[in-house]
Amino acid sequence: MTQDLAGFAKERGIKYFMISYTDLFGAQRAKLVPAQAISDMQKDGAGFAGFATWLDLTPAHPDLFGIPDASSVIQLPWKPEVAWVAADCMMDDEPVAQAPRVVLKKLVAEATKLGLRVKTGVEPEFFLISADGEQISDQYDTAEKPCYDQQALMRRYDVIAEICDHMLALGWKPYQNDHEDANGQFEMNWEYDDALKTADKHSFFKFMVKSIAEKHGLRATFMPKPFKGLTGNGCHAHISVWDLEGQINAFADKDMPFGLSAKGKTFLGGIMKHASALAAITNPTVNSYKRINAPRTVSGATWAPNTVTWTGNNRTHMVRVPGPGRFELRLPDGAVNPYLLQAIIIAAGLSGLKSDADPGPHHDIDMYRDGHTVKDAPRLPLNLLDALREFQKDAPLRTALGDEFSDAYLKLKRSEWDSYCGHFTAWERQTTLDV
Ligand code: ADP
Ligand code: MG
Ligand code: MG
Ligand code: MG
Ligand code: MG
Repeated sequence: MTQDLAGFAKERGIKYFMISYTDLFGAQRAKLVPAQAISDMQKDGAGFAGFATWLDLTPAHPDLFGIPDASSVIQLPWKPEVAWVAADCMMDDEPVAQAPRVVLKKLVAEATKLGLRVKTGVEPEFFLISADGEQISDQYDTAEKPCYDQQALMRRYDVIAEICDHMLALGWKPYQNDHEDANGQFEMNWEYDDALKTADKHSFFKFMVKSIAEKHGLRATFMPKPFKGLTGNGCHAHISVWDLEGQINAFADKDMPFGLSAKGKTFLGGIMKHASALAAITNPTVNSYKRINAPRTVSGATWAPNTVTWTGNNRTHMVRVPGPGRFELRLPDGAVNPYLLQAIIIAAGLSGLKSDADPGPHHDIDMYRDGHTVKDAPRLPLNLLDALREFQKDAPLRTALGDEFSDAYLKLKRSEWDSYCGHFTAWERQTTLDV
């Protein structure tokens, strides 16, 4: 663990540090600080005008300071004279309650108090598109079922292998890369870790993928549904809970169905109970709702859920138990804020543990074909406003995340919805002009 950033700079030949924090809309904000100034910044933080970013602050608020968390520092593998370090937002010597990394740290501390260590892996899918954002970058990537397309994967070898090489060098233990289910779509997988570490890696991964794509004259997008009719960008999360030493997986019980322990089932129960509300976090944009509840894609399936149901190794449900000792939440999409994703999983899961929540029966069916036969499962929200209303109604979940955070989040997301509603579309002219 690196403690002294000035020493780290000397040792590695680093000239600049990016002191980076993530705002409520998931945007990464940074100051580029020369190494000779990093000692003071490590103590006092880098100063920002909070109102200028999405944190629900006013221009009258005092300076916000990003205090670098030295344990998160990463030397950029593609530009080794620069290092990125995640920062925690402080104001008047207090953590900024609504800042996403602060929210997550609070929930990790709560889990620790209960003797639990939440470990997760994420699968952030992305498209490689043209630099102007208009189309898929590979004109030959047109197959109806493009998943695992060997030829299309290898046409993007230079980009994918460069990113994977970087993850190998960083010690993230990447283990596979593939072409995903939409034309132009890819996925890269690395090993799961503690929730905060996964959130930092997830943030850095997005920065890295975008940077390497740009280097190659392309653009990477994690937008939930960038192309109508094609499978969208999911960001599935795999979840397990361990003892504080990280040795014993409390979700594993080989005598239980699917190898998921009683504790794992109550954690899952919390996720199921709060699912409609937590969609406001896991599916945070207007566009998110074109990925879930979507009509069939060209490839034959959306691979995204419609309903709050769980099952064993079957990818048509919101939650899948792919093997013993963990479950997969398939709801989150590429727009999810990496810190809030982990925070909401812990918040909902701990509420399930505390209340002994029952996830209900599992359904061993093809939800896409036979979903109508499940009568008692709620449908996921159909749009962002529905999700925000569900979140508003779920007071225990809002409080678990922190009321200051939840109020700020709801306020900013409501104004995003209003801005969307105020936007005139070609569709409404087409369908309404001649009424
Ligand atoms: P799939 O596409 O089948 O859902 P992937 O291999 O793409 O699976 O992703 C699986 C993710 O789950 C990886 O990040 C992996 O490290 C993670 N994972 C595996 N075991 C666990 C576990 N016990 N707890 C949390 N995450 C896990
Ligand atoms: Mg200035
Ligand atoms: Mg995967
Ligand atoms: Mg995938
Ligand atoms: Mg998955």
